[in-house]
Amino acid sequence: MTERGRAWLMGLVLVLVMPLVALALSLASPALGETVSWTSAFGLIAAVLMAAAVVLASRVRGLTRLLGVELGTRTHRRLGATAAGFVLAHVVAATSHSPRGLGLLNIVAVGPPIKAGIAALSVILVAAVVLPRRSVRRFGLVARVHAVFGALVAVLVATHVALFGHLTENPLIGVLLAILGAVVLALLARRWLVAPLLGRGAYLVTAVRPESSSTSTVVLSPHGRALDPPPEPGQFVWLRLRRVPFAEEHPFTIAASTRSGLLELTVRDQGPFSGGLHDLPPGRRVWLDGPHGAFVPTEVAVRGDGGLVLIAGGVGVTPIMSILRAHAAAADPRAHALLLAETEGEALFAGEIRALSHRLDLAVLRTGGQRLDPAMLSAVLPAGVPESHQYFVCGPPPLVGAALQGLGHLGVPARAITTERFG
Ligand SMILES: Cc1cc2nc3c(=O)[nH]c(=O)nc-3n(C[C@H](O)[C@H](O)[C@H](O)COP(=O)(O)OP(=O)(O)OC[C@H]3O[C@@H](n4cnc5c(N)ncnc54)[C@H](O)[C@@H]3O)c2cc1C
Repeated sequence: MTERGRAWLMGLVLVLVMPLVALALSLASPALGETVSWTSAFGLIAAVLMAAAVVLASRVRGLTRLLGVELGTRTHRRLGATAAGFVLAHVVAATSHSPRGLGLLNIVAVGPPIKAGIAALSVILVAAVVLPRRSVRRFGLVARVHAVFGALVAVLVATHVALFGHLTENPLIGVLLAILGAVVLALLARRWLVAPLLGRGAYLVTAVRPESSSTSTVVLSPHGRALDPPPEPGQFVWLRLRRVPFAEEHPFTIAASTRSGLLELTVRDQGPFSGGLHDLPPGRRVWLDGPHGAFVPTEVAVRGDGGLVLIAGGVGVTPIMSILRAHAAAADPRAHALLLAETEGEALFAGEIRALSHRLDLAVLRTGGQRLDPAMLSAVLPAGVPESHQYFVCGPPPLVGAALQGLGHLGVPARAITTERFG
């Protein structure tokens, strides 16, 4: 991780952890204890967890480089679910301590502070019902609906806390809560409003090159500043076709990049968004957010002589191509073993992979339309499964699941495997 990434990460951890430290100190202090009840303590913990979930989804590059898209998304979901548990504890504690009991949830009969709390709770409940529905399951849509619900909850929770005043009057917690709220709102505004309105990450389509009947490579050149920092092999960008806030965005791997900033995205038509990219005319402007992701091998100097085992299914070959191209350019001396699961008749980059095998220590095995099985995995595994090897698996979820299971049976430790699921 870069120095800048580390600084971001430490800053964010501090902003998230400090209110909880202040809460613990207040609960332990006879002077401050009265300003904090269990009800407000549960509410504060829920707010901090929700803030952490927002931070994880805000595309802070240091974080996405550290965690990768899969662990980042999983942690975001777990934080959201745990926050919902603390919201429930907050509501149960509030209603059981109030003489009004469940009457406290009657939005007509309560004052503005509780009205804001009930409104936040209602938005959370509506989101829990609406978001898993099939009709909003398209990724481009789900992210945007989710963001609107998230921003509404953030504003209503901030109003609830500010109007109530208990926590904000606590000298330890008040300031930290205000900072936390400001960071969350700034991150939401940066991702959804400021970055699109400023037109950051503008690129021009230079060409669209067909690779197969369903897959094309989109070549892009910077229209202004190139991605900063430059992409590492295996990373991806979020691609937008419009400059307006809340425009649809999808992730695509940077299959190739040059020092001058030229990028190539190899895209399979899998639906309305990816399908439309094949018809982009040269000169068309698009916007990129990135580079993101941790599907990146360590450099030779860091890990000694360990080799790489690369397993790809279908268009999941894109980050693997990015790694192979970069390693060939750097004359990487390590052993590379590549296992390719391809659709019959669609061997993406076959000629280039053959050429790369002359420039790199690269062995290639194809599944030939068969399901991935332990024999195929054994054939690409180094003898003795050395600890210093790195394993990268990318493709549709069933292929990634099968590869993980097979590698596990063959004794590859889970920590040595990096995965990226396209679906
Ligand atoms: C980190 C990452 C890198 C990717 N790189 C590439 C690439 O280099 N080339 C390529 O062709 N595809 C890549 N994909 C998959 C690509 O993002 C989806 O195929 C695309 O977004 C489909 O959108 P759609 O509107 O065309 O179809 P939809 O109808 O929205 O979806 C079609 C299929 O794509 C899956 N999908 C849609 N959006 C996403 C998403 N945000 N994350 C994961 N899966 C999704 C859905 O599960 C569904 O199975 C990548 C996905 C991820 C997560």
